[in-house]
Amino acid sequence: MRHPRRLDYLRALGVQVWVPRGSDRGREDVDVSPPRNAVVAAPVAAPVAATVAAPLPDVVVTVRERPPPPIDVPQDWDGLRAMVKDCTRCRLCETRTQTVFGVGPSEATLMIVGEGPGADEDAQGEPFVGRAGKLLDEMLAAIGRSRRENTFIANVVKCRPPGNRDPQADEAEACRPYLEQQVRLLKPRLIVALGKVAANRLLATSDQPLSKMRGPMHHYGPDRTPLFITYHPAYLLRSPREKAKSWEDLKKVWRFLQQEAPV
Ligand code: SF4
Repeated sequence: MRHPRRLDYLRALGVQVWVPRGSDRGREDVDVSPPRNAVVAAPVAAPVAATVAAPLPDVVVTVRERPPPPIDVPQDWDGLRAMVKDCTRCRLCETRTQTVFGVGPSEATLMIVGEGPGADEDAQGEPFVGRAGKLLDEMLAAIGRSRRENTFIANVVKCRPPGNRDPQADEAEACRPYLEQQVRLLKPRLIVALGKVAANRLLATSDQPLSKMRGPMHHYGPDRTPLFITYHPAYLLRSPREKAKSWEDLKKVWRFLQQEAPV
């Protein structure tokens, strides 16, 4: 309700009214809506002689979730792993079984980044297990890659979003220092983001469709690490027709790594 004149009228009468904290009294659009259980003056039909004796009105305060404070992340793998293990920087810590740090050798030249752990990953503590993980392993094997030898696999968030929902922007932001440090320590020649959610988070875009991001080479972070975007294996399981396009992407990844340094 917007009744600036009514507000002035009530004030002139000495009637206490509830006004949201921070309202600008000089503005014409002051909102005088009371909180649900506040006691306010009845509609003013005639002059009121006395101030309405009411308990102190409730003040409605909108609490915005603040971004987590910056952190100093450890400069080594063991320290970083230990910090992630005990992390409580976002709400995902409340529902996880365990954090899923990532897997692969620290000298890997290819880094794969998905969006977040699912139920299997949460249970086992390793990214991309289950059917999608098996398909990813097969895709990697087709270009001579393996999570045990030359490829590091991680996620944008290290804890499972409940119900396998997408990680939210503030959760990805809270977890970003860990991913950035993983990239810094690993220094991969190429990052491959799997799926729309991971790609949007890495590119700091909000909701670009995969079709717009897939194709050209992008770059990630201050070191401008080359970043390539392709389908998530879980999507390929649901849409096997796209496997041909995925294969074309994999060949590009292979060619890029061959050009950069033979493996
Ligand atoms: S998702 Fe990342 S920031 Fe959130 S609690 Fe897990 S490790 Fe911490």
